[in-house]
Amino acid sequence: MSATISLQRCNDCARPQYPMRELCGHCLSPNISMTNVDAHGTLLSWTRLHASMEPYFHDQLPCLVGEVRLVGDVMIMAHLDLAPGNPPPQSGMSVRLSLRPALDDQPAYFATPEQGA
Ligand SMILES: [Zn+2]
Repeated sequence: MSATISLQRCNDCARPQYPMRELCGHCLSPNISMTNVDAHGTLLSWTRLHASMEPYFHDQLPCLVGEVRLVGDVMIMAHLDLAPGNPPPQSGMSVRLSLRPALDDQPAYFATPEQGA
């Protein structure tokens, strides 16, 4: 079974969008609902975070964050979840997004490299 995440999708033009909005960012329709989309995407760029104003991150620094493109050209910023000793991430690599508890137990997106990517 393919991994999915839940995003808004416009019922008039069928485009997914993120972050959530009251109107479609493409056609301004208010006719929006939630739908499951493929959680597999492409890492476009990434950086190593060395400082944060949030105390939650102090024990995790440095950490990797990146921008992931999903189907429909939806862009999502995500923490990069690399196993210790893995080579650094590369732009264009395939990743799978998932939601996990992070800051104050609020869910955040994590991107894990696909096998063989
Ligand atoms: Zn629309």
